[in-house]
Amino acid sequence: MTKILIIYTGGTIGMVNDTNTGALIPFNFNQIQQNVPELARLNYDLEVHSFDPILDSSNMHPEIWAEMAQLIYNKYDEFDGFVILHGSDTMAFTASALSFMLQDLSKPVVLTGSQLPIGEIRTDAKENLITALEIAATKNNGLAKIPEVCIYFDSQLFRGNRSIKYNSEKFEAFRSPNYPILAEAGVHLTFFNNYILPQPRKPLKVLLNFNSNIGVLKMYPGISAQAVKAITHSPVDAIVLETFGSGNTTTADWFINCLQEAIDSGKIIVDISQCQRGSVELGKYETSKKLQQMGVISGYDMTFEATITKLMYLMGQGLTKEEVIELMEQSLRGELTA
Ligand code: ASP
Repeated sequence: MTKILIIYTGGTIGMVNDTNTGALIPFNFNQIQQNVPELARLNYDLEVHSFDPILDSSNMHPEIWAEMAQLIYNKYDEFDGFVILHGSDTMAFTASALSFMLQDLSKPVVLTGSQLPIGEIRTDAKENLITALEIAATKNNGLAKIPEVCIYFDSQLFRGNRSIKYNSEKFEAFRSPNYPILAEAGVHLTFFNNYILPQPRKPLKVLLNFNSNIGVLKMYPGISAQAVKAITHSPVDAIVLETFGSGNTTTADWFINCLQEAIDSGKIIVDISQCQRGSVELGKYETSKKLQQMGVISGYDMTFEATITKLMYLMGQGLTKEEVIELMEQSLRGELTA
């Protein structure tokens, strides 16, 4: 019988209203099971691992990503697939982080959650949970159909490191602006094979060391030298520069000097666009030419979530700065189109 491990980390899916404050707080997995009697009808051998404490995902942290990745690694041979129940707020960060932590993954790791708690009549949790389990159980010639970390939400399966939380109210909470969906659930579960990563040739490796000492600088017209220096002159190891359009910034001398000083002091700067769709093209306009010349790296079409977690991952591996830079511009887990 197909064996699936459900990893419960928290999120709205399992939340209940606090009787004192009225605010939603995480609650234990038993009530999820009580609310989905259908779980017993699935022809899978399900086991549950609950994190302690269970979290609102706004409190998610690289140490907990490492716990999740280690758990999957430890249980890898025992189970056919893994379903992680997780708050939607930072689900795209966790999915991106896990995609880097789990190298040469040959089994599905499907993250899901919901916009309404499982106890609510109109909840989206049941469908998300049941279909995520089905996806995690799907095989092709004895091998997992989806050897990837992905997110299942509102009938669509996304590559984890291509996803963003896009809506805080609709059931359609996620999108994958620069990569097609991997599968769609209607009357049938349809997989789009061309977009799914191939089965790896090597055994799974788990890489848990992350360095999260990263600053973020989001451009806006009128940004002050003081605001820029607060990031470029701070003791971070890398900076994610969120730029206009295809990677453009102001060409004002003081701004370019700030970036140059940051690079000279050893910081890595990665340029990603504030646009959700499309790619950074350094040098296309004069307003990104100088960035390219001074050694700012292109994040191409990576999401913010993938960029941050990829930097954390690469900077945690004891690589040289040059190696980090080289790998940042390559697709490691299908996270970018160069
Ligand atoms: N605040 C919740 C969380 O991320 C939202 C959700 O689960 O949808 O844990």
